[in-house]
Amino acid sequence: MNTDQAPSAGFVDFKKVKSSVGMLQVLDRYKLTETFKRNGDRLSGPCPIHKGKNPTAFRVSLDKNCFNCFGSCGRGGNVIDFVALMEEVDFRKAALLLQEWFMDGGVPDDTKRAEQRATKARPPEQPAPAADHEPVASDADGSANPPLTFELKTLDATHRYLEERGLNPEAIERFGLGYCNRGMLRGHIAIPIHNRDGQLVAYAGRWPGEPPEGNSKYKFPKGFHKSMEIFNLHRALQEEEALPLVIVEGFFDCFALWQAGIAKCVALMGSSISAEQERLLCEVLAPDGSIEILFDNDEAGTHGADQLLDRLGPIVTTRIIHLPEGIRQPDDLHPDDIAEVFA
Ligand SMILES: [Zn+2]
Repeated sequence: MNTDQAPSAGFVDFKKVKSSVGMLQVLDRYKLTETFKRNGDRLSGPCPIHKGKNPTAFRVSLDKNCFNCFGSCGRGGNVIDFVALMEEVDFRKAALLLQEWFMDGGVPDDTKRAEQRATKARPPEQPAPAADHEPVASDADGSANPPLTFELKTLDATHRYLEERGLNPEAIERFGLGYCNRGMLRGHIAIPIHNRDGQLVAYAGRWPGEPPEGNSKYKFPKGFHKSMEIFNLHRALQEEEALPLVIVEGFFDCFALWQAGIAKCVALMGSSISAEQERLLCEVLAPDGSIEILFDNDEAGTHGADQLLDRLGPIVTTRIIHLPEGIRQPDDLHPDDIAEVFA
């Protein structure tokens, strides 16, 4: 690729946009820096995407150049994702806008980004305050999740919620699920999360049903970086190499696919892929791997699938699988229909 050429209509270098434009510049353009609080290389404020009121729900890491919402929209990603969501345009259009706004017709304004980097200073560990009903995992930070030094042993694998979600005892056992009645996950279904080497790094908690008002469906432990892991990757990697890796959004999609006989499946634990997840996937898949994306049948899912196609499409064979009309998420499908979707 000739990066010196002037951008013709439609030419966009995603990588260059991501590395040259800083979140701070973008926030500034939306006049958000005035309302946001800054702490070292982190910023927090109310989420401008879902227009929430919680003053710390939306977090930005200038160092990682990414954002995450810990409130109701749960969106996260890089500068391009942010603009795509703010402008309600696709990933490509958002990148073009960023080029136009900050890169002077394709020439990155390196000075600004350098200035931004220079002003960041790491204060001693001082996590941003979080509302107590929200997951407090700081995804904006890129450090590895250490393996847990304990295991929850008294989970109730017969809880009716698991059955209500259509899980059979084999799936419950395989994924180590169960209702937890003590500790931080009290009142939640515990879902063990492992890193790619199979080490247990966290338990996610799923509220068994619709959560009471003001609570989220999922709870993650404080300090856990969801963006650093891909759920079920350690098991999926044991499947046949020639098979495509199926990527879904949620835990329960992954369980449903396993029950339908599709074991080589992982979940991103959200609808957008993080830089670390992208790196992990490239590492395990390149050069001959292939992926199949089966995301939810909604706006976030469609955007997330396009984003994955953009990021991984140039590296591995990528196929987007569409859910039948009227089906919202893979986990709503009958096992027999799941196989059919892939046919
Ligand atoms: Zn939000």
